[in-house]
Amino acid sequence: MIIPSIDPEVRRIADRIIQSGKKAFLVGGAVRDAFLRKPVMDYDIATDATPEECMSLFPFAIPTGIKHGTITIVPRSRRYKVEITTLRKEAAYSDGRHPDSVTFVDDITQDLSRRDFTINAMAIDLMCNAFIDPFDGEKDLKDKIIRAVGNPMERFQEDGLRTVRAIRFSAQLEFVIEPNTLVAIAKCSDTLSKISTERIRDEFSKILLTAKPSVGLRLLSDTNLIKEIIPELEICKGISQPDHGEQDVYNHLLSTVDAVIPDNLSEDKVLILRLSALFHDIGKPACYRAENGKISFYRHEIESEKIARQILLRLKYPNRVIDKVCHLVRYHMFNYEPGWTDAAIRRFVARVGFSSIPDLFTLRLADTMATTGKPISWPALAEFRERIDRILEEKQALSLKDLAINGEDLAKIGIPRAKQMGEVLSELLDNVLEDPSLNTKEKLLEIAKGRYFEGFK
Ligand code: ATP
Ligand code: MG
Repeated sequence: MIIPSIDPEVRRIADRIIQSGKKAFLVGGAVRDAFLRKPVMDYDIATDATPEECMSLFPFAIPTGIKHGTITIVPRSRRYKVEITTLRKEAAYSDGRHPDSVTFVDDITQDLSRRDFTINAMAIDLMCNAFIDPFDGEKDLKDKIIRAVGNPMERFQEDGLRTVRAIRFSAQLEFVIEPNTLVAIAKCSDTLSKISTERIRDEFSKILLTAKPSVGLRLLSDTNLIKEIIPELEICKGISQPDHGEQDVYNHLLSTVDAVIPDNLSEDKVLILRLSALFHDIGKPACYRAENGKISFYRHEIESEKIARQILLRLKYPNRVIDKVCHLVRYHMFNYEPGWTDAAIRRFVARVGFSSIPDLFTLRLADTMATTGKPISWPALAEFRERIDRILEEKQALSLKDLAINGEDLAKIGIPRAKQMGEVLSELLDNVLEDPSLNTKEKLLEIAKGRYFEGFK
C-alpha cells in the first residue's frame, strides 16, 4: 500500500500533536478517498490527547463536540475542515442511535472497531506513515465492497443511520453491498425510526447528489428503508400511464431524477432540481381517473405540490428549498404554442417568476428525456426559451417592482394603502404585461384614477 501524500496544512496540525508527545492518526473518509484518488473534503485526525489538551494545542479550534471528544479546525485556506477526535470506544447503544457512554482509549484498533464500514475503518499512523487496516478495508476498497465492521445486525441495531449510510456509500462510490450486510439492512429497516430526521435527510440528500440516484433509491426501496423515509413513493409503483410507454409513475420519477444532469450546476441547485424531479408526478396516484378506457391525471401538479410540501416539511428541509421545489413541481406542466403572443409570454413569465425559468426548463427537459428515453430536440421549447430570453433582455416590466409608479404615487392621488391599492397595482401590471408602452408614470396614473374612482361612483 502506497501511503498517499498528506496536505501540508493537515501535516502541520498532526506535527503539533506529535511534538506534544501524543499520537496522531489520519482516519475515516480522508484515508478512503485518498486511496480512491478522490478529492478529500474533510480530514479526521484521531489522537490519544484529551479534548482539553487538543484545545490548548489549538486555541482557535471550535469545540464542536467536546463531550464526545471532537474539536474542529478550519485551516487558513478554508478549503476544508479538520476534525480532531480523541481515540475512543463506545459502550452499548441501548437507544439505537447514541452510545450510552464514550470512553477515551489509546488504542487505534479499538477506535477503528466502532466505525461503520471496513473502508471507513482504515488509518494512517502519522508518526511513522504506517498503514493500519485491521478489518481488511483495503481489500474491500479494491473489490468495491461495502461491508459492516463486525456483525452487521449488531452494528445496525446500535445505530440505525448506518443502514442508509451503507446505501449512500454504495451509490456514491458505485460499490456493491456485501450480502450479509445487505440482508441485515433490510432486517433492521425499522431502526431508522429512532434516528433524527436531520441525519436521515442529510444522507438522503447525498444519495440524490450521486451520478445515478435511481440506483440508491432502488436500494432504499428493496431494503424497505424508503417506507421509513418517503412511503409516498411506494404508492406510485404499478400506476401505469399510457403516454409514458411502459413506465409506471414510480419508474418515471426515478428516471426523471437521473435525467437531471449536474453539469455546471451548484450542489444546492442539483438537490433542488432532483427533489423536484422525484416529486413532480407524486400526486398522480391520487388523481388517477379511468373513464371510457382513457386514463387521466387531471391537475396532478397541484396534488404533487401538496404531497411534496408534506414530505419536505417532514424531512425538515429548509423553507428556501421547500418553496423552490414546490414552485417547480407546481408549474412543471407548463404549455407553449408557437401562436402565443408576446403578451402571453410576458404573463407566463410574470406568473412563474423569471428567476425560476432556467430551472423549470431543466426540469421539463429531464421529464421529457425520462419519458422518451433520449435527449430529444424539441423545437417549440427552444423557441419558447428564445422568446422569453428576448423579453428578459429587453427588460420589459414583469413584476410590480418594474412598474413606472409605486404605492407612494398612488397614495398621492388619494388611493388608500390598503387592499384596494394592491388590487389597483396588480391591475396596472396586467395592463403593462398586455401592452408595455403603457408603462409610463402619466399613463399608469390615468388608468389608476379611472379604475379606482370609477369603482366608487
Ligand atoms: P463523507 O465523505 O461523506 O464525509 P466520511 O466517511 O468522512 O464520508 P463522515 O460522516 O464524515 O463520513 O464520518 C467520518 C468517519 O466517522 C467515517 O468514515 C466513519 O469511520 C465514522 N462514522 C461516521 N458516522 C458513523 C456511524 N454512524 N457509525 C460508525 N462510524 C461512523
Ligand atoms: Mg467526512
